Amino acid sequence: MFLTISTTGDPESPATDLGFLLHKHPERAQVFSTSHGAAHVFYPEAGVERCTAALLLEVDPVALVRRGRGKGRGGAPDSALAQYVNDRPYAASSLLAVALAKVFKTALHGVCGAMPERAAAPLPLRVEVPVLPARGGPRLVRALFGPLGWDTVEAEPLALDGRFPEWGDSRYVRLVLEGELRLADALNHLYVLLPVLDDAKHYWVAPDEVDKLLRAGDGWLAGHPERELITARYLSRRRGLAREATERLELVRLAEAEGLDVDEVDNAVDETEDTEDRPVPLAERRRAAILAVLTSAGAARVLDLGCGQGQLVQALLRDVRFTEVVGVDVSVRALTVAARRLRLDRMGERQAARVRLVQGSLAYTDKRLGGYDAAVLSEVIEHLDLSRLPALEYAVFGAAKPRTVVVTTPNVEYNVRWESLPAGHVRHGDHRFEWTREEFRSWAETVAGRYGYGVGFTPVGPDDPEVGPPTQMAVFTRTADLPMEKEGRA
Ligand code: SAH
Repeated sequence: MFLTISTTGDPESPATDLGFLLHKHPERAQVFSTSHGAAHVFYPEAGVERCTAALLLEVDPVALVRRGRGKGRGGAPDSALAQYVNDRPYAASSLLAVALAKVFKTALHGVCGAMPERAAAPLPLRVEVPVLPARGGPRLVRALFGPLGWDTVEAEPLALDGRFPEWGDSRYVRLVLEGELRLADALNHLYVLLPVLDDAKHYWVAPDEVDKLLRAGDGWLAGHPERELITARYLSRRRGLAREATERLELVRLAEAEGLDVDEVDNAVDETEDTEDRPVPLAERRRAAILAVLTSAGAARVLDLGCGQGQLVQALLRDVRFTEVVGVDVSVRALTVAARRLRLDRMGERQAARVRLVQGSLAYTDKRLGGYDAAVLSEVIEHLDLSRLPALEYAVFGAAKPRTVVVTTPNVEYNVRWESLPAGHVRHGDHRFEWTREEFRSWAETVAGRYGYGVGFTPVGPDDPEVGPPTQMAVFTRTADLPMEKEGRA
């Protein structure tokens, strides 16, 4: 198992400074013992213009198997390792990541007493891992390293056997990363993402793994589009831990967005998020249900009305079928958080062309909302006073009139099932009303009739036989002007 890190330089800032930054002298070959075998550090080249450090891990497979067996507590043995013949010695990138963290510990933390300003500045870097196990293939490799500021992310699939090309590719790739990055950032990317790609963890995941992950992911993981896959795989799919990590990352992200302390945000989240999201990840189910409706309606240009902090906008952007996504909200604060979540300021041109965040009130007709395929009102109508609702109905169904409108709202009947909700309370301090299934149905049917839409209803979340689902969803489809359109085409 092998990786190299190279940099370039000139007489003023020689490439050999890499030795200082890594705390490993370029003229010496060194060996470190790790719990999985010997880690060698040496420099195949060390000149003013180019310098390369290599890390070679000589895994001791027998020790590895013994270690696995020796662990009494913490779960079942890893079956991939319960044998002496396996690919660990050659391609165990998760072991390499552990060795990297041990051997380059100080550099990983971005500390360099000798040249602090060099450690804090980006360097021209090139990282190569000649044989990298990559579950998910070159595409996932690019999805993982792509958003992290590397100019080049090359993942070349390796043939199963060079003599028999017809056998196809192995699950290994040759990884090359090039770009101007801080050395510490580059090392942290590798420390987290090599095991994620390997996806065969060799040691038991302990609770402090969450801390390790968050420390190594500082500054890049919270905003990474593949954050969920990364945490789930890094934490070996332990759902409890992955959820804890996701929640804490969310806090970090909100804190960054608002320039606050994480603790402060922790309290703020309690106030702003629906209590319903504690026991069941209902918000996620809602997004999935909405995405399914939009996809089956064939919608490409979508309005997210009352988009809040942009979770749905983000989910929509992940699917290329949505070519234009507009988030609208009355709250500038919510839109600011949404912009940070989407990293609007750092988005590539093509991606940025697909998305817009717009401030506006749905209680007023807005020309900017005309001409879209679909509009979503997810948990929004209950935030308007009942007396303002007809104005929203006209703005959406009468003026903007997209072909499909998806509306979700809490089902008040279900509230008795929320343990934490005192009887007679609404789910959120800002809800002006919450409806029964009957009330929602009759509202939706009236609106549909008035503006020329058909409407159907779908439960979201567990559909309780007595009180129904926690979220109710109505899908409106415009019918009134369909015949005219048909004529137009004929
Ligand atoms: N759609 C998101 C957020 C729901 S919270 C989700 O499903 O998670 C309700 C959102 O509606 C808030 O962000 C609030 O600012 C917004 N909102 C309330 N009244 C509004 C109005 N009149 N016009 C536009 N947005 C409004």
